[in-house]
Amino acid sequence: MAIARGYAATDASKPLTPFTFERREPNADDVVISIQYCGVCHSDIHQARNEWGNSHYPMVPGHEIVGTVTAVGSSVTKFKIGDHVGVGCFVDSCVGCAARDLDNEQYLPGLVQTYNDFEADGETPTYGGYSDSIVVKEGYVLSIPDNLPLDAAAPLLCAGITLYSPLRHWNAGPGKKVAILGMGGLGHMGVKLAHAMGADVTVLSQSLSKKEDGLRLGADHYYATSDAETFKALAGTFDLIICTVSAEIDWNAYLNLLKVNGSMVLVGVPEHAVPVHAFSLVPGRRSLAGSMIGSIKETQEMLDFCGEHNIVSEIEKINISEINEAYERVLKSDVRYRFVIDIASLKA
Ligand code: NAP
Ligand code: ZN
Repeated sequence: MAIARGYAATDASKPLTPFTFERREPNADDVVISIQYCGVCHSDIHQARNEWGNSHYPMVPGHEIVGTVTAVGSSVTKFKIGDHVGVGCFVDSCVGCAARDLDNEQYLPGLVQTYNDFEADGETPTYGGYSDSIVVKEGYVLSIPDNLPLDAAAPLLCAGITLYSPLRHWNAGPGKKVAILGMGGLGHMGVKLAHAMGADVTVLSQSLSKKEDGLRLGADHYYATSDAETFKALAGTFDLIICTVSAEIDWNAYLNLLKVNGSMVLVGVPEHAVPVHAFSLVPGRRSLAGSMIGSIKETQEMLDFCGEHNIVSEIEKINISEINEAYERVLKSDVRYRFVIDIASLKA
């Protein structure tokens, strides 16, 4: 067992504090990673504060992990010491299942999340990337393209894949009008990715305060949802709306912005249910759908796509001792556009 240092939530209402714990000795198929950076996802806040009702404590959050390989087990072939690698939202899946579906593994039973979960034995808690090391099976480790800076690449492991997957599944590309609802950590990645795929991209944000950034990152249009005129001007416009909003909003108002046969895809997961009226869907054969991260195969495809197009996140780097303040700022939409923890600050 190796000792790891990190930060943990010990209770839904307490700030995160320093925490020391053990990482397992590597098995033959494991990769040992010295973590250099970890992104701060809004899901970390939902879970640290038990907003989804499934939290286990102590919890070391963090599923946007990048670092360097420091050791590999005897059967590992894909990675060697010194490689730059990433770990996203899950570290195991239905490997024992005869029909392991590599394209949809994130939706199947047997998924083991990177933190706030238990390993396949059902007993050993998983601890995430707000820490200095992690031991992960080779099949759940991703290669980071050499041309991408590690710190700004970290958010690709969750924010990136969470937008890439639905954009691909719903065929974002030339001739498609795509709206990204909410320009936060996920949303700004959606703007960059949808633009790189060739779609016509509109940001729907609460205000115009981030308009310049949105246009710089690749949006073609930018509207404020606080302005009632937006909903009149854009009625029936979009093939696809991806909703990244973490709070309860009136989905009916946004469904009305879809074309006939358009789809609104939820990736944001608010705490409470939101009512949807049948009339928002029926007269236009509209769909309301959801999407969750992506498979390991698709995550590597997304990283390679980002390498080719030089896409990374816009980040604000923080020391780990600033994590509680960072959470408050995320809640106020006051981050441009993803906090990334410099794990070296754990040693300071
Ligand atoms: P974030 O950085 O806080 O971004 C959320 C954005 O939503 C904000 O920047 C803001 O955009 C908008 N927003 C926030 N409160 C709002 C309100 N009351 N009304 C209208 N708009 C509001 O969070 P994130 O890390 O991108 O995560 C977003 C959500 O996705 C969270 O619920 C998270 O748990 C979830 N998530 C899901 C998956 C998945 O696999 N499905 C993966 C990761 C995260 P503007 O300032 O532009 O209005
Ligand atoms: Zn996340």
